[in-house]
Amino acid sequence: MPSSTTRSDIEVEKLSKIFGSGEDAVRALDDVSLTIPENEFFTLLGPSGCGKTTLLRMIAGFEQPTSGRIKLGGSDIADLPPNKRPVNTVFQSYALFPHMTVAQNIGFALKMLGKPKAEIDETVSRMLKLVKMEPMANRKPAQISGGQQQRVALARALAPRPRVLLLDEPLSALDLKLRKEMQVELKRLQAETGITFIFVTHDQEEALTMSDRIAVMSAGKVLQVGPPREIYNHPAERFVADFIGDTNFIAAKVERANGRSATVRLPSGVALTAGLPEGLSPGEGENVTLVVRPEHAKLAADGALKGTVENAVYFGTDTHFHIRLDTGDLFILRSQNAAMPNGLPDMGDAVSIAIPEGAVQVVRG
Ligand code: ADP
Ligand code: MG
Repeated sequence: MPSSTTRSDIEVEKLSKIFGSGEDAVRALDDVSLTIPENEFFTLLGPSGCGKTTLLRMIAGFEQPTSGRIKLGGSDIADLPPNKRPVNTVFQSYALFPHMTVAQNIGFALKMLGKPKAEIDETVSRMLKLVKMEPMANRKPAQISGGQQQRVALARALAPRPRVLLLDEPLSALDLKLRKEMQVELKRLQAETGITFIFVTHDQEEALTMSDRIAVMSAGKVLQVGPPREIYNHPAERFVADFIGDTNFIAAKVERANGRSATVRLPSGVALTAGLPEGLSPGEGENVTLVVRPEHAKLAADGALKGTVENAVYFGTDTHFHIRLDTGDLFILRSQNAAMPNGLPDMGDAVSIAIPEGAVQVVRG
């Protein structure tokens, strides 16, 4: 978390990138501002084409901004060519040099920088240890697995001690089990090296489990920035709520807004207190959209929402009830099974859903 004692490492100010011109112009990045402190695991999360790679490439210096600024440690880096920026990138295609050994791959950048052999050897053995590849130092990339190749690519990128490591969907080529292992590994590497990581993914679970903070992007814009819990529990935008996790959307009318909360009335007449995103102050009588996470709602004798069970899907740990509300909307409710050994409703049963205080959020859009 940023605080007054942490220094900001990367500052992106009103950054825009337009590819092409005239009718073919693509606004890949649209007025993006971000501050990323030192030593943070920061994630850019968004669907394909939202501008994640474009933003990384501008930080790395491979692409020039159309407008806006990028600062590193307080200084504008516009005039620094990529090889002069204390930034390194790990790509999805790790592209190791096939004719070099693991150790030679890791030492390559240091050799290009003209570092003395003793220093290269020392760094390479430290990096081999860091990514747990010591026994395979003398193998060629073709002689190790995909996950091991990715670890070597990480070691190669970390060897010159970049100040910031950019990771562009580095795990998406790996199968699920390896990906899970590498997620843990990446977190450990970030903590041990203390290097700022800017990690790109389109996978919401990956973002939630790994990040200190997440920036959710859509169509070239950053919609919301915050720690995983805040993004999940208090989405500010409909897109954010929809993209991350499963969500119920409910229509409501505002009775009154007060700072960061509002009293809203459901079509059933029931009033609820809902969280308000920063900067939003809807007027009395205004129509708004509420979000409620499926696991935050509860079956209750006399809840705020009424409906009929259309489907109950058993998942072992929990059951997902698909409930057709009296308003016609579908509501998904997730209930943990351990707590309710019997007495679960069946298809066709009329039920009532309670929404606890703090589980309702107004979203924009
Ligand atoms: P992401 O990494 O989130 O999938 P990108 O940053 O690669 O998204 O792309 C953002 C948008 O910019 C897309 O619409 C993409 O087609 C466009 N784009 C990216 N690079 C170029 C380029 N060199 N020329 C033209 N359009 C580009
Ligand atoms: Mg990309």
